Amino acid sequence: MKELLELSALELGAAIKAGDVSIAEATQTALDVMAEREPSLNCFITAAGEQAMARAQALQAGVKDAKSPLYGVPMAIKDNICTKGVKTCCASKILGDFTPPYDAAVTERLTEAGAVSLGKLNMDEFAMGSTTETSFYGPTRNPWDTGRVPGGSSGGAAAAVAARECWFALGSDTGGSIRQPASFCGVTGIKPTYGTVSRYGLIAYASSLDQIGPLARSAADCAAVLDAIQGKDKRDATSLDVPAGSLLSGLTGDIRGMKIGLPSDCFGEGLEPQVADAVKATAAVLEARGATVEPFSFPLMKYMVPTYYIIACAEASSNLSRYDGVKYGWRAPEYEDLTDLYCRTRTEGFGSEVKRRILLGTFVLSSGYYDAYYKKALQVKALIKEAFDRAFEQYDLLLTPVAPTTAPKLGESLSDPLKMYLSDIYTVPANLAGLPALSMPCGFDGGVPIGAQLIGPALGEAAVLNAAHAFQLDTDYHRRSPYGKEVK
Ligand code: GLN
Repeated sequence: MKELLELSALELGAAIKAGDVSIAEATQTALDVMAEREPSLNCFITAAGEQAMARAQALQAGVKDAKSPLYGVPMAIKDNICTKGVKTCCASKILGDFTPPYDAAVTERLTEAGAVSLGKLNMDEFAMGSTTETSFYGPTRNPWDTGRVPGGSSGGAAAAVAARECWFALGSDTGGSIRQPASFCGVTGIKPTYGTVSRYGLIAYASSLDQIGPLARSAADCAAVLDAIQGKDKRDATSLDVPAGSLLSGLTGDIRGMKIGLPSDCFGEGLEPQVADAVKATAAVLEARGATVEPFSFPLMKYMVPTYYIIACAEASSNLSRYDGVKYGWRAPEYEDLTDLYCRTRTEGFGSEVKRRILLGTFVLSSGYYDAYYKKALQVKALIKEAFDRAFEQYDLLLTPVAPTTAPKLGESLSDPLKMYLSDIYTVPANLAGLPALSMPCGFDGGVPIGAQLIGPALGEAAVLNAAHAFQLDTDYHRRSPYGKEVK
């Protein structure tokens, strides 16, 4: 059982293909680990063990003809991604036990590839947060140190992958929700270029920023998952026609001549020295493989967090207006009239972080303040995009920290939301500019992981993944396990 757990998703897929392990055996192994570790970690909101075993049995006959390297590999899905017949509630009381009558595009594509879903992963309510503590279903704990948060909002996904409860997971990233938990839990995660992956069936937080992406144990595993889920989908008008199936085969690890920019403004005040050192050591590894790394000035950093929170909250206030107790999920049990039904359902159904964002969003969109805040934020967003365009005239990729610190202690962040928002400084730029960005483990401090971020130009996933793969060929941070086991 232990050896299986330490395989990467691709290695497990290969072992299944070769007939060395059955899909049921792999699935049962994951379910056993979940049974052992879930009581202390709480990565899952809904475990779908029975469905998973049934699917594992059904898939076995097709192993020989399997095309995808992920055929038969057990994985799990963040709870804001619709899964037909399996409860999907965004970690919110207001969605109750909403069970979607349809699959998200990504769920369909992973099903087609032959992956086995183990269930739905914990997250911050409606993906709003950086710690997975705003979940109605209680916090997820960091497998490296259960006194700490796993990050958020895809904290359940990152913790489940780190804890070997699944071989990969799907998360979503609006302002860092794949990359920051990946960094806190020592796994690899990529937010693709906006439009690369269909958002059909992703429950919206801020539609112009949201993207689905993988969290896994290596850049190669992430490439395989992205190969399976990316591409045009006519049900999402923002989805792009990207070439299918080319990322994994492009991972050569050859980064000779690659020019990497190190934005010096990302290494200033507020960044823990241990994190700064680990990211700089990452630069040295990439240089040793033939890339050049050069500091440069990227002066807009102080505008990133305000711009992001204005836009994200504005869109959230609009997207979340649909939860009124009439169409979906939970309804307040007692009310006097229709208005009272709306009020009570929303008052009782949303948690306080979600309410704070709805209030903020409504404020910045109100007629008196629209120009001063929302319109201004859109103008700054355009400037940020231009600044990245200029940077990518000079560099192939940018290297930055993922978060200013390692994982905070449970209960530390929610008391000071402003501080929590500020800690998103390094991840929100890629969402504001729609760019691909990856987080990979690059060190440890006090026994918990540190992450480094690689940001690429639009549709530069191949270069981002290849640089991360090159780094992982020469380092073993991504192989370390909170349980002291190492992946081969
Ligand atoms: N922490 C950020 C927020 O709370 C990002 C969340 C996300 O990417 N979903 O908005």
